[in-house]
Formats: sequence, C-alpha cells, structure tokens
Amino acid sequence: MAWDFETDPQYQEQLDWAAEFVSSEVEPLDQIWPHEQFVPLDGARRKAVDPLKDEVRKRGLWATHLGPGLGGQGHGQLKLALLNEILGRSSWAPIVFGCQAPDTGNAEIIAHFGTEAQKQRYLRPLLAGEIFSSYSMTEPHAGADPTMFETRAVRDGDDWIINGWKYFSSNAATASFLIVMAVTDPEVSAYQGMSMFLVPTDTPGIEIVRNVGLYGEPMNGGSHALIRYNAVRVPAEALLGGEGQAFAIAQTRLGGGRIHHAMRTIGLAQKALDMMCERALSRVTAGSKLSDKQFVQGYIADSYAQLTQFRLLVLYTAWEIDKYQDYRKVRKDIAAVKVVMPTVLHDIAWRAMQVHGALGVTNEMPFLTMIHGAGVMGLADGPTEVHKMTVARQVLRGHAPSDDVWPTRWIPKLETAAREKYARFLEHEVGIQ
Ligand SMILES: Cc1cc2nc3c(=O)[nH]c(=O)nc-3n(C[C@H](O)[C@H](O)[C@H](O)COP(=O)(O)OP(=O)(O)OC[C@H]3O[C@@H](n4cnc5c(N)ncnc54)[C@H](O)[C@@H]3O)c2cc1C
Repeated sequence: MAWDFETDPQYQEQLDWAAEFVSSEVEPLDQIWPHEQFVPLDGARRKAVDPLKDEVRKRGLWATHLGPGLGGQGHGQLKLALLNEILGRSSWAPIVFGCQAPDTGNAEIIAHFGTEAQKQRYLRPLLAGEIFSSYSMTEPHAGADPTMFETRAVRDGDDWIINGWKYFSSNAATASFLIVMAVTDPEVSAYQGMSMFLVPTDTPGIEIVRNVGLYGEPMNGGSHALIRYNAVRVPAEALLGGEGQAFAIAQTRLGGGRIHHAMRTIGLAQKALDMMCERALSRVTAGSKLSDKQFVQGYIADSYAQLTQFRLLVLYTAWEIDKYQDYRKVRKDIAAVKVVMPTVLHDIAWRAMQVHGALGVTNEMPFLTMIHGAGVMGLADGPTEVHKMTVARQVLRGHAPSDDVWPTRWIPKLETAAREKYARFLEHEVGIQ
C-alpha cells in the first residue's frame, strides 16, 4: 500500500525553515526591488542577496530541480513542489533558491541535450545564479502553433546565419544568452525541420527592438522582448541537440516549466486565501464580522476546496514525473494542471479582492496583480484551449467507440445482457408471474 500524503520529517524541517526564511528575509526584497529579480546583481542588491543565497546553499536547498551532477540536490519534482509552494509567495524567492523560471527549464534542456562545452559555457554560470537566460520561440505572427514559425537559420560554411523576428522573449534584455528556435530545413515537416541554437545576447545582429510592457508596466517597459535577428552569425557549436530536434527539446522544456509555474501558483493562491481569511476575521459590518456572513463563508469554502483540488493534482503530477522520468508519459496531467491553474488563481484572488472592499482594487494590495498573473498563466507556455485539446486527446486514447448504434451502457441493452447472464435464476421468477 504505497499511497501516502506525509512529508518525511527531515524534509518537513527543511520546509519549515524555508517558510520562515522566505517570510522574514526574502519577502522584504519584493518591496524594495520589486522588478529587479532578473537584473544581474550589483551594488546593494548583491550585498543583500548573496548572503541569502549562501544560506540556502548551506541548507542544501539550492537549485533542487536538478540532480547532484549539475549542482542541485536531486530531490525530484515532488519535493520541489512542496518547496515551490513556499517560494511562490515571493517574486524574489525563486532567485534566492536558484530555481527561477525560465532559467530552470532552460538549464534542464542544456543539461539534457548540451555538449560538454555548452554546459561549461552556459549551464555552469546559470546554475551558479550568476547569469540569466531567455527562451526565444514565439514570433509576432504565431505563438500557439509553432509549425508556423518563420525565423530561419541557414548554413554558411561552418556557421549558421539566423534571420527573423521573435516576440515575448522573457528577460532577453538582461539575459547573457538566448535559446533561439529557428527553421533549418523548410523542405520537411516543422517537426523535423526546426532546430535550437544557443546564442550569446551580445552577438552582432541581435536587436532588442523594445520590451512589450504588460498591464501596469510602462510603455516599452517590463521584460518581454520583441527581437529582430539580423543576419546573426553563430558557429556550428551553437546548435543545441541535433539538427531538426527543436520540437523534441521544446517538449522537455515546456513540460518542466509548466509544472514549476503551477507549484508556485499554489503558494500565490494560498497567500490570497490567507489574506481573505484575515480580512474576514478582522472587518465588522452590519452587526457582525465578515467571517460570519454566509456569502463570505462561501468564498472561503470554495477557495479552499478549489485550491486543495489543484494542489493535489499538481503534487500527483510531480510524483508521476519522478516515477516515469519522462515528461511525455505525464503529458495529460501536465496539460490538465496548466488548464486549471489560471482559473484557480483568478477565482481565489478575485474573492480575496472583493472581501477587501475598495482597498482590494487599489495598488496598495496585490490582488489585481495576481488576477493579471492568472491571465498570463492562461497564455504563457501555450493557451488554455490548446492544453484542453491535449487533455481531451489523451483521455480519448483510453476509450473506444460503441460497437452498435446504441451506447454500450444503454440501459435496455444492459438489462437484456444481465437477464441472459442470470437466466437460470430468473426463469423461476418469470414462471411465478
Ligand atoms: C508573460 C508572458 C511571457 C512569455 N514568455 C515567453 C518566452 O519567454 N518565450 C517565448 O517564446 N514565448 C513566451 N510567451 C509567449 C507565449 O508562449 C504565447 O503567448 C502563447 O504560446 C500563445 O501565443 P500567441 O500569444 O501568439 O497567441 P495565438 O497563438 O495567436 O492564440 C491566440 C488565442 O487563440 C486561441 N487559440 C490558439 N490556438 C488555438 C487552438 N488550436 N484551438 C482553439 N483556440 C486556439 C486561444 O484563445 C489563444 O489565446 C510569453 C507570453 C506571456 C504572456
């Protein structure tokens, strides 16, 4: 009987330490440097953040998404999920613990598909937390359907020359290198004709046209870049994995990235629920506390139930990833997690906002940021609709059509079959009638 919902006491101690550390040491960074997590450390930020990273390393919680050979702890995804729930409460915490998106996914694919030289050059400093990376796949005219991508890499002697546009390449402006997906053979299907390249951001020809600001960010602000690749020349060694392997690599990367976002989203939604409860217990109106009003109790109960369902799905999926060690075998549940995530965060943050009254919609509270974040979760790493299609296709694989015009479980058919099966017992009853 292997089902178990307990965390082993030693790791629970680590989690308790992390919860206290994030709340007392890391969350304050969100207030003083709210948008600078992905700017390489210098000056005061380095002085404040480096000692925190050292403490995490000493506790053995640095980069736990990776195995020991790569500088991590090899704890696996389930333990990472429990840790990420805590880190999701703060935007600086993933950086301080060396497991921030999109660098985790990028590190994972270099670890899987990179050559020794590529690992030395890109993976080592990435894992040391000294540099950042950017994943440059989406194009202005096409995102959800990667078969439409047009950015082209053409061979020129021993080099490749990359031309085209990329869009929403997160953190490109502060990253040391980009992972660029480009068409290398337009004559074959996109699934065999696209490749990935590791490209240093200072390579001539890379033009960050502007950052596309999200809601609440200034025009041209934020961290999601529109990039023009103007005859960017890279050597053959820049190819990541084999030529034509981009789709296979992308699946590895996006599988991990999606579930890690979900782990952190549990923490964010829990934070909204905690705030909702505190407010409900604190505010008195119309003769009683909000926590005594049935509507508000409904908000709290619905939020708790929604979050617990989501959390169990995420933890189960993380457990499956550890078990199978193959994202393709867990596709259905990773996609299901991705489908549920925006709604859970949206609904809980919305109710928490409502319970806070006017204060809830101000920029002095984080609810609208969370609700906007829920919108982002429904798009980044692929839109909800596409993930629903994946879930449905995978579910349908376990089913077959009915073998006649009536459904298999049509009651008259079941009854006839049942009567035939037990005819020997029924003849007597029929006779009596
Ligand atoms: C904050 C943020 C960060 C991001 N970071 C990165 C990054 O670092 N690197 C990167 O390469 N990309 C990044 N992206 C881009 C993201 O992957 C794309 O936005 C996403 O894949 C959707 O592509 P699109 O925006 O072009 O929408 P489209 O492909 O134009 O789709 C628009 C809408 O059409 C509908 N739709 C699309 N396809 C289908 C379908 N098959 N069936 C039914 N309906 C459908 C959905 O409602 C969808 O939202 C980021 C996006 C955001 C918002």
